[in-house]
Amino acid sequence: MRRNVKLCLLLWATWATAQPLVLKTSTILDGKGHVLKERNIVIENGRIVRISEAGEKAGYDLSGLTVMPGWIDTHAHFAVHFDSNHRVEEGGVGSKEAPELSALYAAAGAYATLMGGFTTIQSPGAEVDGTVRDLINAGQLAGPNIITSLRAIYVSTGTPEQIRTFVRKAKADGADVIKLFATASIRDGGAQTMSDEQIRAACGEATALGLRSVVHAHASSGARAAVLAGCTSIEHGALLDDETLKLIASHGVYFDPNFLVWHNYLENKEKFLGIGNYTEEGFAYMQKAIPQMSDVLKRAIALHVKLVLGTDAVAGSHGRNAEEFIYRVRDGGQPAMDAIVSGTSAAAEALRLGDRIGTIAPQMAADIVAVDGDPLKDITAVRRVVFVMKNGRVFRNDARMNSGIPSVR
Ligand SMILES: [Zn+2]
Repeated sequence: MRRNVKLCLLLWATWATAQPLVLKTSTILDGKGHVLKERNIVIENGRIVRISEAGEKAGYDLSGLTVMPGWIDTHAHFAVHFDSNHRVEEGGVGSKEAPELSALYAAAGAYATLMGGFTTIQSPGAEVDGTVRDLINAGQLAGPNIITSLRAIYVSTGTPEQIRTFVRKAKADGADVIKLFATASIRDGGAQTMSDEQIRAACGEATALGLRSVVHAHASSGARAAVLAGCTSIEHGALLDDETLKLIASHGVYFDPNFLVWHNYLENKEKFLGIGNYTEEGFAYMQKAIPQMSDVLKRAIALHVKLVLGTDAVAGSHGRNAEEFIYRVRDGGQPAMDAIVSGTSAAAEALRLGDRIGTIAPQMAADIVAVDGDPLKDITAVRRVVFVMKNGRVFRNDARMNSGIPSVR
């Protein structure tokens, strides 16, 4: 009897892994700037094996929706949350919140982000990230693929030698990427803080260990030092001048400007005000940063800087990361297709995962999002996520609840 059960299970497992799953679609934006019409996506063992001309029996009918690669947010602090008193809370060292509560909020942030259509995020970073990442990878929590720095380097981290030691320890502790603050927060004016030598130590050691290095930089001087030090991405960059943008472009460094973060702070001002540098003066700087960011983005596009899509999502933003696409198009003047590419294949390339995620094509992970509407005509369609698949597993399927083919609003 027991042997029969085992045999049945074996047969079932063989059948389950051998059966391809077919998604019927009418419109695919493949993540590389192409539109594919009336195709089926055929998936086996969590990967896309082929894009067919239709005909095969579909397990999911996504006709009428716009199907894209799972979105990628290159800068999201999913662990930062509002606590039960509606105040921002980061958890971790120095926090008064119970660690188990902080951990649960982090898991909730990751879940909300996945449900919002983002199948991969880079978090720069919190100590809890590594555990959440590992539990997601083990299939024990629902969330996006997480790439994390675990912690960050500041001017106060120490001498160049101490910084190199810090980088080596971060890698040994499981960091996937190194994060450094080359300049102050925009709430403190954004001027360069780390010395050029400190920046060289951080990014030089990261490069030696095969890690990427992403740099918080607003002032041009901090960004320039980072580019010349071999750092791989400039984050935020609200104060960058044209010379610096040209340097970023010529070195093939990625640029990660963000809008959602400023809007979110302003919309939730009372939940941040009075904590650390969330002062009235700090909020005035953030208000000013929005038009500055629009201006920098427009110049970055004109200067052919490689753009990725990052939100700098903190408390109040998890699950709303897709708003960044809307700001990009509406306030940054970026064509919708380019914004989508920046949040799919370009972001994947920046994370050195371009051969695995960010594109709908054979051999890529079956990370797929579908929205109700056409984001090329109306970018706000990204708010209407109805289907989310990660590694071939469906995590959200609102369309199915309406018996298959949803109406297009
Ligand atoms: Zn950040």
